[in-house]
Amino acid sequence: MARYGFLAGIAAVLMVVSVCGAAEIVVLTETPVAEFSLPDGSVLTNAYVWRRSSEGLMVMHDGGNYFLNYKLLPDDWRVAYGLEASGLAQAPSRPVARDDMYLIHPILLRVPGLSHTAYGFFTSTRYAGEIDEILLSACMLQSLCDGKYDKAARLRQILSEKFSEKNPLADAEFFATCDACGGSGTISYACNICGGSGKCIRCDGTGERKSDLTGTAIHCTTCRGTGKCFKCKASGKLGMQCADCKGLGKVFESEKAKEELAGLVEQMNAFYSSRRP
Ligand SMILES: [Zn+2]
Ligand SMILES: [Zn+2]
Ligand SMILES: [Zn+2]
Repeated sequence: MARYGFLAGIAAVLMVVSVCGAAEIVVLTETPVAEFSLPDGSVLTNAYVWRRSSEGLMVMHDGGNYFLNYKLLPDDWRVAYGLEASGLAQAPSRPVARDDMYLIHPILLRVPGLSHTAYGFFTSTRYAGEIDEILLSACMLQSLCDGKYDKAARLRQILSEKFSEKNPLADAEFFATCDACGGSGTISYACNICGGSGKCIRCDGTGERKSDLTGTAIHCTTCRGTGKCFKCKASGKLGMQCADCKGLGKVFESEKAKEELAGLVEQMNAFYSSRRP
């Protein structure tokens, strides 16, 4: 009770202050107010403070209850409610998010070794795009490491369009020829129908066969007279996608990419350090 009395006392003083000021802000207390105007102009009738918290006030009124959120109060209201010193002034100013024009912020978040504060810096308006080439390159490598080749290709495209003359990564290769398929992307094996001969098994490659009924030579319907194996089209081989490279013909050299990426991260962290207030 003593605490409420004290708060009410402060409120009474503030109310006097606010009444004297240009903006007539009523500081609501536990005593009902017939018509209480909110910052947005709407009016609560017979409003009083039911409960207080560090976040704001739970207000009861004829229409139910209403939460007066301190965070959403305009500055003059904050002053009237005595919040300037405790809340607003001490709260660290939130960095304004930078427009993610290259869609790299989620990728940047995954880059190993980039400090959390550096990430915060590069995704805020405090960073003005000075080392975008390094950021884009790092994100391209991270996309490769993640196996997101389509994203990597998009970033590579941006890099070559924006920084074609001096981009060190535009032509760097992080792929080696796949040993398993020799770079073709397919593994071939002998046709399971003709056993690798490439000949039609019905007519043995002649294009015609003897009729079962009459014994005369007739057109082979299996190969339509071509004599070729219908499955392998006479090549004798069948191919399947190489499992090692998933048909790409090349394999990603992750160690090489990670090494390059670490160098870029070092440059990014150094740039952030040079800009730290
Ligand atoms: Zn392969
Ligand atoms: Zn065949
Ligand atoms: Zn045939």
